Amino acid sequence: MSSNRTGTGAWKNLRAAMIAEAQARGHTTCPTCGTWIDYRHAGLPNSPEVDHITPHARGGTDTPANLRVVCRTCNRTMGARMNRRRRTPPARTKQPPTAAPW
Ligand SMILES: [Zn+2]
Repeated sequence: MSSNRTGTGAWKNLRAAMIAEAQARGHTTCPTCGTWIDYRHAGLPNSPEVDHITPHARGGTDTPANLRVVCRTCNRTMGARMNRRRRTPPARTKQPPTAAPW
């Protein structure tokens, strides 16, 4: 059994196919935030990205039925949310005003 991970050539092809199909279908807005998707440019906040409806971590697969095209911002935000397991509040170390290093 080969584990299917993102980053493989097969995934790249599928991802490209999903984006091309979404564009051909006239899928012009992000289903999550409603922003207009820019199919002409990559790497922009509203560039198309392929999102797993059910993430790999929960048994989702790289099949078109489990994929949708969202904007890059939403794809990154959702991924970050998945990875964030514990909240680490910014550690504010109280320093007395007299504790200057020099
Ligand atoms: Zn979005």
